[in-house]
Amino acid sequence: MREKKQMYINQRLRDLYICFSHFCQKIRSGVMTMGIFSKEESSGRKESRRSLQSKGSSDYSEDFESAVSRDNKEGTDQQDTNSMETITCSSCKKEIAAELMRKELSVCPECGAHNKISAKRRIRSLVDPGTFRKLKCPVPVVDPLGYPDYKNKIHDLQDKTGLDEAVLIGMGEIEGRKAMIGVMGSEFLMASMGIAVGEKITHAFEIADKYKLPFIIFTASGGARMQEGILSLMQMAKTSAAAQRFGEHGGLYVVALTHPTTGGVSASFAMLGDITLAEPGALIGFAGPRVIEQTIGQKLPAGFQRAEFQEDHGFVDQIVPRGEMRETLSQILRLHEKRRWSL
Ligand SMILES: [Zn+2]
Repeated sequence: MREKKQMYINQRLRDLYICFSHFCQKIRSGVMTMGIFSKEESSGRKESRRSLQSKGSSDYSEDFESAVSRDNKEGTDQQDTNSMETITCSSCKKEIAAELMRKELSVCPECGAHNKISAKRRIRSLVDPGTFRKLKCPVPVVDPLGYPDYKNKIHDLQDKTGLDEAVLIGMGEIEGRKAMIGVMGSEFLMASMGIAVGEKITHAFEIADKYKLPFIIFTASGGARMQEGILSLMQMAKTSAAAQRFGEHGGLYVVALTHPTTGGVSASFAMLGDITLAEPGALIGFAGPRVIEQTIGQKLPAGFQRAEFQEDHGFVDQIVPRGEMRETLSQILRLHEKRRWSL
């Protein structure tokens, strides 16, 4: 019965994905004009899709930018260049030396709280130096609702964070093993999921499938991006269907849930991993605990929606401290490699 229900849901998700793809294609080819993609941009994306047909290529330059060295400007971010001497821990509120905090990857040495870390620093803490190559997936800034000041805000954030959207995706090596790695940056509009984030994640699944790479994603999000209305909600079906197809083709999909993973992201690709890891203390849920308490009029149990609670209730496979994440992922990639060899 349960299997039947799951099959039905999967089928509906696939239908939605096909509908949405047709819809986007029409917009891109100019049959429908909603001001979302210009014709020049659309032809570029179409070319990129067509290139997916040529399978088995080992020349990654078609889909990835070249690797950036650590000394390069691209490799730095605001947190690295910050001259503040101390940083306040978001949990115990103690002042910690900035140098020590950076060394500990923003994990408080006093209370162990996993403070926020930028997407770029996260990537650097995971991959072998000089191996990260950003996925080529330019998506224009769109403002489907004509939301006041929205485009300006995005451009400002792009300048401030050095990210083009709320997710940074590329190919990198972890102890010599290649993987597609995505990190959502909470420094970019709370890592909310709009058209660009949905498109980048879907494209990453497709390219990971093309090169037979495992896909690892670090999620953190406030949910769907309200400034893009219903189009942001459609990204849930789109990314879920892409994850499903990737799985059907035998791809390994690992999700690492970080604080906070909520809303439309937790209700789509964040919960579909073959292996689900989480950082200690991360808030993982759909609606926040305060909203639930107000809705049901009851007090929630201690630690509700925290990573440890979700692990106890089967949502999370393993809680991994930030300092051990690289080693854990390396182990998973190694095991997966062995499994592939034994088949
Ligand atoms: Zn602390």
